[in-house]
Amino acid sequence: MSRRDRAAGLLAAPVARYVVRRLPRWRGVLVLNYHRVGDLSASQWDRDLWSATGEALDAQLAVLAREAEVIGPDDVAAAQRERRAGRRVLLTFDDGYRDNYEIAYPLLRRHGVTATFFPVSGYLDDPCVPWWDEVSWMVRNASARELPPSEWMPEALALGDDGARDAAIKRLLTRYKQLESPATERFLEALADATGSGRCPAELASEQWMTWEMAREMRDGGMAFGGHTVTHPVLSKVTAERRAEEVGGCARRHREELGAPMRWFAYPVGSREIVTAPVKRSVGDAGVELAFSFYGGWGGFAGWDPLDVPRVHVGPSYSVELLRAALAFPRAFGRW
Ligand SMILES: [Zn+2]
Repeated sequence: MSRRDRAAGLLAAPVARYVVRRLPRWRGVLVLNYHRVGDLSASQWDRDLWSATGEALDAQLAVLAREAEVIGPDDVAAAQRERRAGRRVLLTFDDGYRDNYEIAYPLLRRHGVTATFFPVSGYLDDPCVPWWDEVSWMVRNASARELPPSEWMPEALALGDDGARDAAIKRLLTRYKQLESPATERFLEALADATGSGRCPAELASEQWMTWEMAREMRDGGMAFGGHTVTHPVLSKVTAERRAEEVGGCARRHREELGAPMRWFAYPVGSREIVTAPVKRSVGDAGVELAFSFYGGWGGFAGWDPLDVPRVHVGPSYSVELLRAALAFPRAFGRW
């Protein structure tokens, strides 16, 4: 158990909870970020995108509905202008996986809270296996017991058991994110060879993503939608021209399918080194009002940057104790 989890556990004791519930509110917005919901414990896809089981999300939403003010992105600018203190939380889901529609959406409705979804427009238009899931699939289906050192990876990666494969997937995905965009496809080809798995068949993706029809149903049910590019590239690693196409193309599909401009955006991958000035400019130029990063932190209104709003990562070990602690002390517990 981490120090953060232990500290959150102490705050959950009855007396501490009584005090914490009465603490002053804060100025800012705590943005929680989810990817996939359900049970991915034995999935062949990238398990790092697993945010919560349905039961865990249900428990988190119950706490949020009672103890926080869950707002939509439309409310953020006004809250920021007024500087009114509160316990504002914005819920976000990236990528557009179908489990968001099948599992998360009914739970959000049941608890009467809104969330903002950032689907990758190209995956809804033409379902395919994204690079992170394909890397995971290739490693988990590998016939090779080891990946030898190569031009892509200086060290050998063991693939002996599940633990070794988990570590290899993390290492390979880190490497992928460092590559300039034309090299990424060659990297996947080389990995298909080295693992012995071949490339992942596209038909495995046919039910992986929500459809635009599902997105419209969710929108009509009070959910918000924003953009997350057409093909989920690392925006700092592509040319300015491609960047404009990725952002502009996503905005166009958003408008066509959801009948509204793309006002919110989540940067693919979203780590600190990716949210560069040219990347922020590309989304600002497309009319985006709020853009979300993904390197941790809470969105305090002091030092607020609407094109780099930090988010807290929710993973399968994120407990309701930790959530309550973050609601009371976002600066201390809303880090990552
Ligand atoms: Zn993403």
